[in-house]
Amino acid sequence: MEVAVGETLYWLRGASWVPAERQLPVSADLVIVGAGITGASVAYWASRALSGSIWVLEERTQPAMGASGRNAGFNLAGTVTPYPELRARLGREGACAIWAYTVDNNRRIRALLEAWGADVELVCSGSLHVATTEAEWADQRRAAELLREDGFSVELLDREALARLWGFPVAERFWGALYRPEDVRWNPARVVWRLLEEALRQGVRLALEAPVWHLEPVPGAVRLYTPRGVLEAGTVVLATNAWLGRLLRLLAGQVIPVRGQVLATEPVERLFEHPVSANYGYEYWQQDREGRVILGGYRWSVPDQEVGYAVEGLRMEVQLGLERFLREAFPPLAEVAVAHRWSGIMGFTHDALPVLGPVPGMERVWVAGGYTGHGTAFAFRFGEDLVRALQEGWHPQGALRYMDVARLLVARQKTL
Ligand SMILES: Cc1cc2nc3c(=O)[nH]c(=O)nc-3n(C[C@H](O)[C@H](O)[C@H](O)COP(=O)(O)OP(=O)(O)OC[C@H]3O[C@@H](n4cnc5c(N)ncnc54)[C@H](O)[C@@H]3O)c2cc1C
Repeated sequence: MEVAVGETLYWLRGASWVPAERQLPVSADLVIVGAGITGASVAYWASRALSGSIWVLEERTQPAMGASGRNAGFNLAGTVTPYPELRARLGREGACAIWAYTVDNNRRIRALLEAWGADVELVCSGSLHVATTEAEWADQRRAAELLREDGFSVELLDREALARLWGFPVAERFWGALYRPEDVRWNPARVVWRLLEEALRQGVRLALEAPVWHLEPVPGAVRLYTPRGVLEAGTVVLATNAWLGRLLRLLAGQVIPVRGQVLATEPVERLFEHPVSANYGYEYWQQDREGRVILGGYRWSVPDQEVGYAVEGLRMEVQLGLERFLREAFPPLAEVAVAHRWSGIMGFTHDALPVLGPVPGMERVWVAGGYTGHGTAFAFRFGEDLVRALQEGWHPQGALRYMDVARLLVARQKTL
């Protein structure tokens, strides 16, 4: 059952961006398509390092109206793939490089926001990763062992320690938790706005309600077709994440839209200081500055798992599952009212790693996205690395070797 009404853009309350640029130029040196955390990060780094005209084109009425302003407000290191599995798949060196990349990404963006004194509701609490079965608890302990072995800080909390931390009896379903001290929670839309504001201050131009309908490489440029006219760009960065396949047929079926549902309660007394993920990340919650518990997940409870949905919309089975979880798992929330509900679209890849780099055969077109639900752990550094590569050439080393967009296209050719 789907309902088309009732979504709240919770994090975007108070958004007041005016569509400053009505007129698009006929040409620009760099065009960034999409104004989520990726587009904002690329714009920020480009504004510092590149000369020439730089434009961000966003199809919606405000920046951060895609997944970046619709997630649950976490900034966690790591990948969706549990660390032991990542190590088994990529080897110790690969897994360690990717994990370290995300830790570094998070440290850098946090340091910048702190240096700016940015009002992004940043809370440096660390995060909890709760096991909901005995098997998951064994996996968490194994993950802790390997992460420690590779030099990452983690702690383990058993159920009693979790109960002391939360201050209420912990349901039987929770076996214990892995604690990661460096993770944070924040208002994700405000993070995007702050980065973009900085880019605009440095001369980047932002056009809202400016969808790119089609792109076409032409000699020396890329032609972008929009309802406001045709624009030729020296370089294009597609920062459209879940919608990468819409503009780039090569990536259709390689970056797959997946919808996530979220709800927020009325404000309640503080129960959770840390952002929490549980059930291998399928459920996640935090309590924000206003005291609302913001909970997402449960897409496993519907047969299609919300895979292939590129349009936001509330799915009541999932929303009701979330509500039931909240009331059953947390006694203090048994009667709480739900005040807001929303959804967001993520971009998943088959190997659960994101994509970065120039598109083979279309060297003026770059992509950054496909984060498989973990974009805040990569996007800031992706912006920096992409802009550096625009200056110095694309020579992916270390973690970037595993995230090069070229791998998806090789995989695609093999399956054709
Ligand atoms: C419910 C939910 C929970 C999540 N939880 C986490 C989490 O715990 N940790 C984490 O790291 N990540 C999480 N994520 C994922 C994270 O939000 C995304 O990975 C990240 O926001 C992606 O940022 P982005 O800028 O690449 O994409 P988006 O924020 O989706 O931005 C893409 C933008 O491109 C625009 N666009 C698309 N097509 C066009 C076009 N043709 N022309 C112009 N503009 C276009 C869209 O309007 C949009 O604004 C979650 C996401 C959701 C939905």
